[in-house]
Amino acid sequence: MILVFADQRDGNLKKASKEAISEGKRLATSLSDSLGVVVLGSGAKGVVDEIKKYGADKVFVSETPDAYSPDLYAEGVAKIAKENDAKVVLFPGTSMCVDFAPRVSAKLEAGLVTDITATEVKDGKLVVKKPVYSGKAIATVDYKSDIAMATLRPNVFELAESNGAGEVVEFSVDGEAKAKAIKVELKEAGKVELTEASIIVSGGRGVKGPEYFQNELQQLADLLGAAVGASRAAVDAGWIDHSHQVGQTGKVVSPKVYMAFGISGAIQHLAGMGTSQYIIAVNKDPDAPIFNVASLGVVADLFKVVPALIEEIKKAK
Ligand SMILES: Cc1cc2nc3c(=O)[nH]c(=O)nc-3n(C[C@H](O)[C@H](O)[C@H](O)COP(=O)(O)OP(=O)(O)OC[C@H]3O[C@@H](n4cnc5c(N)ncnc54)[C@H](O)[C@@H]3O)c2cc1C
Repeated sequence: MILVFADQRDGNLKKASKEAISEGKRLATSLSDSLGVVVLGSGAKGVVDEIKKYGADKVFVSETPDAYSPDLYAEGVAKIAKENDAKVVLFPGTSMCVDFAPRVSAKLEAGLVTDITATEVKDGKLVVKKPVYSGKAIATVDYKSDIAMATLRPNVFELAESNGAGEVVEFSVDGEAKAKAIKVELKEAGKVELTEASIIVSGGRGVKGPEYFQNELQQLADLLGAAVGASRAAVDAGWIDHSHQVGQTGKVVSPKVYMAFGISGAIQHLAGMGTSQYIIAVNKDPDAPIFNVASLGVVADLFKVVPALIEEIKKAK
């Protein structure tokens, strides 16, 4: 079996989970194997129908534990993997999965590769690719362990609906949580989550202060249904919260469109957004390294470009 963990919160299946299930289905098809999806926690039953759309043959569902607990989540996934002789276990690269996937790996004595951006099957076994050295090189990794595990970079793998038997198996996760989440505080309710956004409007030191993030960049993002990102220089200056930072020491994002305003394109920033599908950079310095990766480069003053963009989008709407 190819097993995929589906990350959901309160009955909302994350897009990154759908991508991981779609990729699991592609692998199951090439390996002539079945696809199992495991979903846990409060709200788990509410996402079963959506999971079935992506071709699951079996959905293992448990409303326990009610709150996120790294040890109990790991216990639940490892139990299902063992009982069903899983050969591959995939996770969406969400913060929660990145937190507990290593525990599953330890329990299953399985090799775990994080942040993968591609998979292939060689001689009937999984081989994965992941960016290394801040995105300067791509490593191809195969597994020595019997079970192969990976976390998938969000927004990289294509969504694909397909058919599967869709059998639902309920189970429970027993045991006492050694640690559990007691409260989830969503910083910006209603705003688009950075790692899942298909468009990101990002600002750097060139933006020159917090007001521009709060006003113009936020307005542009709202018009486009986008999330707001930032360089570390902007975050370190205290202009915007660290949760918006893109890069090596921030979040890794891979949206359809990444707009960089007043960002030079340091290697540590590129490490976090280099796999974006379409990069639009606005910078007044024609030699800024961001232009080396940009699909569209605009050498101009951002303070002129952003308001003009806002006006044009408003007109178009
Ligand atoms: C270990 C380590 C980890 C790091 N992790 C990260 C990370 O996760 N993310 C990250 O971003 N950085 C990271 N950095 C920092 C990184 O090296 C850069 O310092 C940082 O990315 C620079 O941010 P910036 O591009 O906003 O600022 P600058 O490099 O100062 O660039 C500002 C740009 O704005 C342009 N500009 C100025 N005014 C205008 C205008 N009016 N119109 C248009 N353009 C204008 C300038 O031409 C310039 O190119 C890390 C560094 C280290 C050492």
